[in-house]
Amino acid sequence: MTETADRALDEDVAALPLTDHHVHPALAAGLAPHEFEGLLTESDRPVPPWMTQFDSQLGMAVRRWCAPVLGLDPFAAPGDYLARRAGLGPAEVTRRLLRASGIGHYLIDTGYLADGMLDLAGMQAASGAAADEIIRLESVAEEVLLAGDGTAAGFAGRLAEALAGRVPGAVGLKSIIGYRHGLDFDPEPPAAAEVALAAGHWLRQAELSGQVRVTDPVLLRHLLWSGLSHGLPLQLHTGFGDPDADLRLGDPLLLRGFLERAEPHGVPVMLLHCYPYHRGAGHLASAYPHVFLDVGLAINHTGARAAAIVAESLELAPFGKVLFSSDAWGPAELHYLGALLWRRATAAVLGRWVADGDWSRADALRVAGMIASTNARRVYGLE
Ligand SMILES: [Zn+2]
Repeated sequence: MTETADRALDEDVAALPLTDHHVHPALAAGLAPHEFEGLLTESDRPVPPWMTQFDSQLGMAVRRWCAPVLGLDPFAAPGDYLARRAGLGPAEVTRRLLRASGIGHYLIDTGYLADGMLDLAGMQAASGAAADEIIRLESVAEEVLLAGDGTAAGFAGRLAEALAGRVPGAVGLKSIIGYRHGLDFDPEPPAAAEVALAAGHWLRQAELSGQVRVTDPVLLRHLLWSGLSHGLPLQLHTGFGDPDADLRLGDPLLLRGFLERAEPHGVPVMLLHCYPYHRGAGHLASAYPHVFLDVGLAINHTGARAAAIVAESLELAPFGKVLFSSDAWGPAELHYLGALLWRRATAAVLGRWVADGDWSRADALRVAGMIASTNARRVYGLE
């Protein structure tokens, strides 16, 4: 074996440019310690006073890997980390972590924002990277409802108009039917009369409650099929997320009927997160030419165990079907760690297969590059 063939993959994988195909903006506002800890978990409940979220895989990874980016020793104590973070200020912390991630292109889901989050131009300026938009279908529907002045019968038309206005500036669309209803939905597109009836019910409910959140499965299915008609890659939330989603209904295998009906449209369907159902997602990606997957989000939350998930995501799925994502939302630690932990896990997994003689080093690096960026650039048609 030559010296080059023998060298660990780490450095080469660390140097790969990344295209993050599913990510949210960084939060460039200051965070109180409890707010920061609250963003190290997908739970929407306060962290109990007797415990700290730093005692988790993600918390450990922050201390190990983010501390040096802020000029501290690895494994800095949580209090020292938070003090340093506050001392540098949120803009500088965000800038350092985004730039250290090596993510060269962000495809940003702009549908779920908190105060102080960077917009697309802000993400570009802070990171020095490119940023494009993924439009969340449910958010467009809710904007249409908030714009008011409409009848239930006209909802579908107003939605189509709003989508036609937004789509040209975006590189993909996203549905969170997995959050709002679950993936066990009727796979057929709903009839126009059903949509008008459901829109009427939704309008009345919104007037009574002041809440515009779309949860009606008929409307969610209509959004999904409307999105599909635009031809852009369609992202679907599956698997792991906050407790708002019923994880039992997040199994992408529930999407089989929809995927088969969508197949003739030729639109790539991107299964996001997938964990803990990523092996089933791998089966779908192997069975259907238009299905792709990522294991973002779980990588951050499983930290030192991320290699196991990366390895499992490369069982059945053809390698051209797997994409890198950080699914970071909020503190730029999540953008940085999403990239770093993916690189470490990928180098460890592929490096093992090279060492065992199952893969060549050149193939390992080529496949890592596909997942890092080239698969996303092909699917989303990025320049
Ligand atoms: Zn996500």
